[in-house]
Amino acid sequence: MTIGILGGGQLGYMLALAGYPLGLHFRFLDPSPEAPVGRIAHRVTAEFTDEQALEKFAHGLEAVTYEFENVPVQAARFLAERVPVYPAAIALEEAQDRRREKRLFQRLGIPTTDFAEVAKRGDFDAAVKQVGLPSVLKTCRLGYDGKGQWLLRTAEDVEKARRELPDVPLILEKFVAFTRELSILGVRGRSGEIAFYPLVENHHRGGILRLSLAPAPRLAAGLQRAAEEATRKLLETLDYAGVICLELFEVDGKLLANEIAPRVHNSGHWSIEGAATSQFENHLRAILGMPLGSTATMGFSAMVNLIGEMPEPEEVLQVRNTHLHLYGKSPRPGRKLGHVTVRADQLEKLQQRLAELPAFFRRPEFCLQEARVETLAERA
Ligand code: AMP
Repeated sequence: MTIGILGGGQLGYMLALAGYPLGLHFRFLDPSPEAPVGRIAHRVTAEFTDEQALEKFAHGLEAVTYEFENVPVQAARFLAERVPVYPAAIALEEAQDRRREKRLFQRLGIPTTDFAEVAKRGDFDAAVKQVGLPSVLKTCRLGYDGKGQWLLRTAEDVEKARRELPDVPLILEKFVAFTRELSILGVRGRSGEIAFYPLVENHHRGGILRLSLAPAPRLAAGLQRAAEEATRKLLETLDYAGVICLELFEVDGKLLANEIAPRVHNSGHWSIEGAATSQFENHLRAILGMPLGSTATMGFSAMVNLIGEMPEPEEVLQVRNTHLHLYGKSPRPGRKLGHVTVRADQLEKLQQRLAELPAFFRRPEFCLQEARVETLAERA
């Protein structure tokens, strides 16, 4: 069985690594001749809009999925006429446009921050009036890792934004003074079977995820259930197959939905070693109609992203229960080159192990100081 994957980055790389034990083969399509999956699988280099290439790509595939959410919806639709595509193109369509995403949350009764649409420049002032300050202006499409976003705090920021407004649809969101950022991964099989991973606590710097803690420590009662209910609604409404990620803000003990990713997600990388079945394996099981694997966690995990530079592997691996994943990309500032997962049976032990990581990780951008949660002894 050969699975086709649109996008050939690290998410595709890890999907293939999870699929080989199941006897699966993979074929990737990516416009870049340098896409990391070239190291381990058959990679077709072509634009997502090249229908001739898509036609050839689809030949003989069992199913197609994607690891990149900005795949043109048209490519998914074109392929769906030839081979089953999971999750269905509608999920891409909803996730690619922040307006549609926000309206979907509203329709499903999933709490989200107040917002106003800025379809054209002339709508900007009314949007600022409606939402107020501080607020976050975002492009509706093609924003990721904090790109295409402006924080508006003062009248000067508003003035500056008005002068520099790009001529594309925008959305203005009320700034959320969140306690922390959380995410939940859910997976739905083709039969409708659903499973959830525990809520994860995420720390960003410069709009890029740096650190995830799984399960999220100090979680108030009811939050896991609320996150699962919201995710279930999304999965069922979209008749979804595969892994989905719902990114959330925790504020005043409640959850507000920020956005969805219709794919495996960086905040689920810990599951490779930290859960009975990884997000990657469960995504493949789901799209192939196989029974889902247990999402039970094995103690506590921390996942640290390696961005722009890499540490000495030996120094990382000398810490017990620590795993290094390198994606085979050449270093470049801001680029995700790999990640490190540290695991332990108790939270205290996890913190000890994080403290044993080499000096490379002491810089603030790794957010390790934010992984310090009060230990049980301190709380007592
Ligand atoms: P996004 O591309 O929507 O995931 O935003 C990237 C990051 O910007 C989020 O992870 C938050 O840290 C921050 N952010 C986005 N929207 C808001 C908001 N409405 N209020 C506060 N922070 C936000």
